[in-house]
Amino acid sequence: ALLKRLFESAGAVPLSFEVFPPGNEEQRKKLLETVDRLTPAAAQGFSVTMGAGGTSRTGTYETAVEIAERTNRPVTAHLTAIGLSTNQAMETADALWSAGITRVLALRGDALTPNNQPSLSGFKYAADLVRALADQHRFEISVAAYPEKHPEADDLDVDIDHLEEKLDAGATRAYCQFVLDPSAYGRFLDKCSARGITADIIPGVMPLDGWSRLKRFAKKTETKVPLWLSRLFACGEETPELMPLLASAATVEQARRLIAYGAPELHVYTMNRWPQSLTLAKLLGS
Ligand code: FAD
Repeated sequence: ALLKRLFESAGAVPLSFEVFPPGNEEQRKKLLETVDRLTPAAAQGFSVTMGAGGTSRTGTYETAVEIAERTNRPVTAHLTAIGLSTNQAMETADALWSAGITRVLALRGDALTPNNQPSLSGFKYAADLVRALADQHRFEISVAAYPEKHPEADDLDVDIDHLEEKLDAGATRAYCQFVLDPSAYGRFLDKCSARGITADIIPGVMPLDGWSRLKRFAKKTETKVPLWLSRLFACGEETPELMPLLASAATVEQARRLIAYGAPELHVYTMNRWPQSLTLAKLLGS
């Protein structure tokens, strides 16, 4: 049944694309090209990240508004609580709402440095921010989920308790940290559904391009690298001409498997580049 669904669901699962605010005019032009190229495949629109500690608050706002005006697609603004007072966080949310950005991904965020303490006057956990957002406006609120558990959580069950708290506080969908082993997402969906969670749990897909960036991300987020992928990329290192082809094929393979496990949508981490994300979208039939 898994194999059957693997190939029959092409095009049936909507895509959303994650981008980050550009740092200068040249990067902005590149981002807008990426947005224009991906818009036809972006049934679930775009999401715009916010730098750790709220560092790109204005950039996130401006980018979200610009993409919404340009594409007429749903746009989700990430809002990270760490480093912001509750007032600053709520002012940012107000500005987004007034500009017509009604979808927010509510996050705690990470401290800028390991010794950095969260602002004492701010929200401690994402669930606290969700509660405040739900009271403030009729936002469509999303939250983060971690199929391989959040690095600070003692175990996955406790982490799912905290995911449930965020959903109970008013969030209606969860976007997952990317996984390199799609079966981790499958197991996570099973666990969530056994707990009675009915909200959409949407997996992230990172278009792969080779070893170096992937290793860095996997280490930072404690994402496991499955043996088949290590072997594939070892082969790519031996024969560099093959690496882009292997990486692209591996990305599509992962996406198809995530769909087969029941993904209601795929959230693609574009890194503000379009060729790999568009290749993935085309191969999935979007
Ligand atoms: P929370 O849900 O608050 O959880 C943080 C930790 O606290 C977890 O270990 C949880 O189990 C624990 N916890 C929660 N509630 C309680 C409680 N009541 N008691 C004890 N422990 C508790 N970061 C950015 O800076 N900018 C972004 O734009 C961004 N986008 C992201 C998008 C996605 C899809 C994902 C998955 C992550 C993103 N992140 C982003 C990273 C995120 O900010 C970090 O992973 C951060 O460490 C946790 O944020 P959270 O919202 O999941 O926190």
